[in-house]
Amino acid sequence: LALGTAACGDSEREGSSSPSGAAAKGFAADSLIGVALPSKTSENWVLAGDLFTNGLKDAGFKSDVQYAGASTTVADQQAQISAMVTKGAKVIVIGATDAAQLSTQVKAAHDAGIKVVAYDRLITQTPDLDYYIAFDNFKVGQLQGQALLDGMKAKKATGPWTVELFSGSPDDNNAGVFFNGAMDVLKPLIDKGDVIVGSGQKDVKQTAIQGWKAEGAQQRMDSLLTSTYTAGKTLDGVLSPNDTLARAIITSVKAANKPIPVVTGQDSEVESVKSIMAGEQYSTINKDTRKLVAETINMVKALQAGNEPTINDTKSYNNGVKVVPSYLLPPVIVTKANAAEAYANDPKLSPLTK
Ligand code: BGC
Repeated sequence: LALGTAACGDSEREGSSSPSGAAAKGFAADSLIGVALPSKTSENWVLAGDLFTNGLKDAGFKSDVQYAGASTTVADQQAQISAMVTKGAKVIVIGATDAAQLSTQVKAAHDAGIKVVAYDRLITQTPDLDYYIAFDNFKVGQLQGQALLDGMKAKKATGPWTVELFSGSPDDNNAGVFFNGAMDVLKPLIDKGDVIVGSGQKDVKQTAIQGWKAEGAQQRMDSLLTSTYTAGKTLDGVLSPNDTLARAIITSVKAANKPIPVVTGQDSEVESVKSIMAGEQYSTINKDTRKLVAETINMVKALQAGNEPTINDTKSYNNGVKVVPSYLLPPVIVTKANAAEAYANDPKLSPLTK
């Protein structure tokens, strides 16, 4: 698939007829842009909605920003996207609630000449997705795996270290990507016996937390503690895919009166940054939502002008049907040691590191 090669910025072809995302003719500067976000499973989604509403307005667009509800997420999001198509949106930005359940809606959008951008989470099983924009989520997983090892080594120089693994919601494509990234780092050590998964639950299915729910993570940790960590057996570390789950895991450990293991996270949520500074949670990831939304709006502006948006990766994210042209930003690992530096330009988080 030759990407970015179709130099048809001045062509008369309709953008809708271009499967490779070649530049369309552009569209009116005050067009409607749809933004369909998942339910508010973590702070980054709450922030993204506000940033899109304000940023698109400042850029001169009309916007329709929607969240899937808390329970009927898939049907909600499907209906919201269909409504955006009917209302004549020119671009629809989607943070998918279920990666594999949107192909009908994405096709309808594409057929109507609308550009579809997957935001943060890839949309799978469709040839009609134009672009993907995200922090590199495989890299997020690798950083989490490495942080888990670093944190455990700092407490106990040599292994074997005993760990438990958690992963996110199975309907979110990112959950598997984070897990695979982490296993890319951890699996060689598990195979050698330097890292031991105490419960033996190493499969992404056994470790998944449906809906990224804190309660789910707390319950799973409670049962792991009773099944596996009695009689003085030590738990050195827990791979947690995000901050919401990390705090639930720490809550469970504290309730059982056990020492807090090294726990990873992601999203730089306020309560987790506080926990890191207090020496409880070990790490998080900074995926600055302000940057990701700003880059997404830049993509929309390029499409509006009839230009090909900036793409920096054309090989990493295969959605099961095609490799989706992507714009990937680099995630940053944050521990107590670099928090002040990592959040220096973040007015909300920076004061917490002082
Ligand atoms: C996002 C994470 C977030 C999770 C739960 C994922 O798709 O990439 O940042 O923690 O969803 O909301």
